[in-house]
Amino acid sequence: MDERNQICITSVCAAVCQLMGFAAPAEADDTNPAVMRKAEKIFAGRRAERILLYNPDAIALWLYQKYTDRFIPVIENSNVAMPMLSVMPSVTPVCFASMYTGLQPQKHGIQAYVKPVLRVETLFDAAIKAGKKPVIISTRGDSITEIFKERNMTYIECDTPDECNEKTEEILKQDLYDIVVCYNANFDSTMHRWGPEAEESLAQIDHNARAYHHLSSLADEVWKDKDHVCAFLPDHGCHEIDGNLGSHGLDMREDMNIIHFWSLVGKIG
Ligand SMILES: [Zn+2]
Repeated sequence: MDERNQICITSVCAAVCQLMGFAAPAEADDTNPAVMRKAEKIFAGRRAERILLYNPDAIALWLYQKYTDRFIPVIENSNVAMPMLSVMPSVTPVCFASMYTGLQPQKHGIQAYVKPVLRVETLFDAAIKAGKKPVIISTRGDSITEIFKERNMTYIECDTPDECNEKTEEILKQDLYDIVVCYNANFDSTMHRWGPEAEESLAQIDHNARAYHHLSSLADEVWKDKDHVCAFLPDHGCHEIDGNLGSHGLDMREDMNIIHFWSLVGKIG
């Protein structure tokens, strides 16, 4: 069996724009209808004022199916879970470019493991045009910072994923940004070295699940008087290869099928 999930990660861009009430990039793929239906119910026609986008690298759908208990901290802080389809080649810069431009790789231009600055319109350009303030918090030199550079926004580059999470915590408490993106590479780097199901790698899933739980709980506290959204959005999956190593990049179910979690929270009062 080689089933593929229906909804592509290119729908994330328009979903974020629509949730926050500004125009998506003209060429972006359609929004995610399930997330929007949930938004109608939670926000009753209002727009989300703030959003936290947590991007753990390489968390596959099959890992969620096989090790569901490790995702309980994510499930606890979510009210939508969506099986999602990644893009090809299923490597980090290609996938984040698609997620945050709403475009397939042939259209945004990154079609291999390279990290050029994107010249097409991105979520961040659309947000800035609408007067929103985005920030990307990432480990230094990683795709998600490099390809979205040269915009009038803030980039915070850290030495480790844990430092990214500490910085995100600070940023949330200061509440100076409307769109907060936090990238965590720890599972990806561990699974390449040890294989996706090694105890070392599974411990990194726990780490990401707890990090999302912690950051989204903090966001719920800091943004309690604002309609807001938190999301757990991996870029692609992974599979085991010879030698107990891990890999991704192929057009196969394990690499292409992922899961996204969303938490849509209406303001109190
Ligand atoms: Zn990746």
